[in-house]
Amino acid sequence: MIDYCILGSGISGSTIANLLSKSYSVEIIDKARGIGGRCSSKKFIKNLNFDHGLQYFSSKNYKFARFLKKLEKNKILKEWSGYHLDFTFKKKISYSKLIGKKGNNDLNKFLISKIRKKFSTEIIKITNQKNYWELHSKFKTIRSKNLIITFPFPQTKKIAKSYLKKNFNNMKINMVPNITLMISQKGGNDIPISSIKVKGKYISWIANENSKKRFFNKRTLWTVQANEKFSKNIINTFKKKRNYFSNLMMRELAQLLNINNKNLKVFGIHGWKYSYSNFKTSYESYWDKNIRLGICGDWFIGAKAEHAWLSAHSLFKKIKKNPPKN
Ligand SMILES: Cc1cc2nc3c(=O)[nH]c(=O)nc-3n(C[C@H](O)[C@H](O)[C@H](O)COP(=O)(O)OP(=O)(O)OC[C@H]3O[C@@H](n4cnc5c(N)ncnc54)[C@H](O)[C@@H]3O)c2cc1C
Repeated sequence: MIDYCILGSGISGSTIANLLSKSYSVEIIDKARGIGGRCSSKKFIKNLNFDHGLQYFSSKNYKFARFLKKLEKNKILKEWSGYHLDFTFKKKISYSKLIGKKGNNDLNKFLISKIRKKFSTEIIKITNQKNYWELHSKFKTIRSKNLIITFPFPQTKKIAKSYLKKNFNNMKINMVPNITLMISQKGGNDIPISSIKVKGKYISWIANENSKKRFFNKRTLWTVQANEKFSKNIINTFKKKRNYFSNLMMRELAQLLNINNKNLKVFGIHGWKYSYSNFKTSYESYWDKNIRLGICGDWFIGAKAEHAWLSAHSLFKKIKKNPPKN
């Protein structure tokens, strides 16, 4: 039986899996088709790639900064250069923005390249037996001595409620949704913009995928994020009216960048139900040695990749200090 089953291949799942794999057998399970969670990239066809989740890595914490530097040196990450503009369309934002060389899940891929992984496996129920966990998906049951969950808080609570301590269970953490649109533009390579923060009626952020210099495409690819208000309004209904909402955002993009909307084509629209949390908990991670259950994720500490990484490191320290008996 595997020592640690890690649910989720986002930054926190990849980080804790990497740390534990140095001493234990580890397996990662994810409901998605590939690695990365909220860092994943969407590839439609060759050279049509959008980072529809995390936009770039930045750091305020010196340990995470050191880790990012190491990955930059190893050519896993690279600087996203060019013109990153603020709301005024004039002022350049100067802090460093790192991105994956091929996609923003490169960091996750690097961390878990040698670890066993199962995708397209949604865990719908967990049961704690005397010495092991049973993880139930629609088609099979997986056994593991110890269990680590790395889902956003609402999903963690849904699956683990009956095993969590009362104070933890009672936390009220609302995670904010985000709608992301992926658009291509005929031509447009002369627009000297890498990213812009905007104050649109619908849109708050625009990123130019071509400016990441990962591929050559005659068309310009734009990843467009809706603002919080619009995302909240449509998160539960956008799938039924995807053309209507895509068009609203597309028209606003055309207006903001002063381009002809006849040159634009929508490739996809994605809804992140739990994009980030505005709330900081009094925990950095959760470890219950008695039932061999650990939890980590960005939402413990903040809203960014950095926080997911720090939460996984905090959990690792707790497990090392208080290892399970098995
Ligand atoms: C649109 C968007 C833009 C962002 N931009 C930035 C940015 O520029 N910079 C930055 O630092 N951060 C950004 N973030 C935040 C960053 O992406 C997250 O902080 C980080 O990726 C969280 O990692 P995580 O491992 O904690 O969670 P996740 O990445 O959410 O990982 C959880 C994993 O669990 C899996 N899962 C969930 N339920 C189940 C289940 N029942 N069974 C099996 N698997 C399951 C999911 O598929 C997922 O892979 C952005 C997020 C979004 C959504």
